[in-house]
Amino acid sequence: MIQQIAVIGLGRFGTAVARTLSDLGQEVLAIDVDEEKVQKLAPQVTTAVVANVTDIDAMRAVGIRNVDVAVVAVGTELKASIVGTMVMKELGVKSIVAKANDDLHGKVLEKVGADRVIYPERDTGARLARMLTSTNIIEQIDLDPNYSMVEMVAPSHIAGRTLAALNIRARFGVYIMAIRSAGRMIVAPGGDDVIHEGDVVVVIGQNDNLQRFKRL
Ligand code: ATP
Repeated sequence: MIQQIAVIGLGRFGTAVARTLSDLGQEVLAIDVDEEKVQKLAPQVTTAVVANVTDIDAMRAVGIRNVDVAVVAVGTELKASIVGTMVMKELGVKSIVAKANDDLHGKVLEKVGADRVIYPERDTGARLARMLTSTNIIEQIDLDPNYSMVEMVAPSHIAGRTLAALNIRARFGVYIMAIRSAGRMIVAPGGDDVIHEGDVVVVIGQNDNLQRFKRL
């Protein structure tokens, strides 16, 4: 599905978001107050505009109301990030994603109308720490403070047995959503499916249960 997505603030983060969206075939409206940044990115996105996110008339004029999602990627400029998020809300943008520097900033962004707040530095740092300390974790997505989805190399002692024999759901309270085995993906595996040495599993569950499963 092609969506219209506005990316406001073309720092390192915003530029990466805008470029990747364009590569994925999405319609991108890129906005920044810095003309040089706008010009540099212009050839790679659908539309690039020099404008201030805190200027409600300017945002109305670029038709921000029509986008499916607006990403407010202005980070260090707190006022611009907060006022800009308010402006998006005020103009009726359907979905607002805002980048926060820390928890307090994030709370304010939620209060003024962000539908989703992201913390790129905090999350990347946490992910790296997890990768460095548990060698079998490939990726972890925090679904909420208590639940996560983890992609990991299957612990070796569960290899060679069927899911039914392992009885993972009853023993650990986690659910194996997929197994990647020799390049083949088994989605929603059944009791007869076997986990082999070196397979990658995608597991969902409560964090405490996932911890127990990882330590298996
Ligand atoms: P990154 O980590 O992504 O590089 P940053 O936090 O270091 O981001 P910021 O200073 O937050 O960088 O700026 C990100 C971009 O937002 C810059 O290109 C800046 O010109 C732009 N920007 C700042 N204020 C506004 C504003 N009011 N309206 C539009 N763009 C703005």
